[in-house]
Amino acid sequence: MRELVDLAIERLREDFPNKSKSWVRRALIRFMKNTVKEYGENVWVVRGLPELGDRYPTYVVRFKDGRYYCSCFESSWGLRRKSEICTHIAAVILYRNYKRLDSDVYASVINIECTDYYLEIPSELRGKVKVVKSVRVVDSSDRLNPRHRVTYVVYSSEPIEVRARLTCDGEVRELSLKLTRTRRYIVELLTH
Ligand SMILES: [Zn+2]
Repeated sequence: MRELVDLAIERLREDFPNKSKSWVRRALIRFMKNTVKEYGENVWVVRGLPELGDRYPTYVVRFKDGRYYCSCFESSWGLRRKSEICTHIAAVILYRNYKRLDSDVYASVINIECTDYYLEIPSELRGKVKVVKSVRVVDSSDRLNPRHRVTYVVYSSEPIEVRARLTCDGEVRELSLKLTRTRRYIVELLTH
């Protein structure tokens, strides 16, 4: 799905803002040609593409101690490549971004328009439930107290019911949110 791939690329660009367009393009080619396979926890095998200059049929990418390592580091170009993030790794990151965006989450959406706002989730649910929001100014005629349109997305990996307290301009509402199944990229689309 196009939208999902676009978002996965956007995340890759955000994580590596200094990388060139051709770096992103090469990662995308590897990903779209389905060359990345998960091999185990934090291990992926990337099929080599001769048209991108690969000399080996496969490359092994590992994630260890917060860093990615690729078997192309050990090739003749290794010394030059070691300091860089090769496009085999970039393809793996793209693959992981895509899989994450494509995964199921359980979510509930709240839309409000207020000057002051606050959403409180019971503290025992912290860690289990996440809240993301997007805020847009809709009326700034009162410069010190602009009105905002706020979208909260409350989500979790489980289909639970969440009691929340929403404060909007001093008015407090108790909410009971039923988190229903959706996909991760919908959450991202609503809040970016
Ligand atoms: Zn590599």
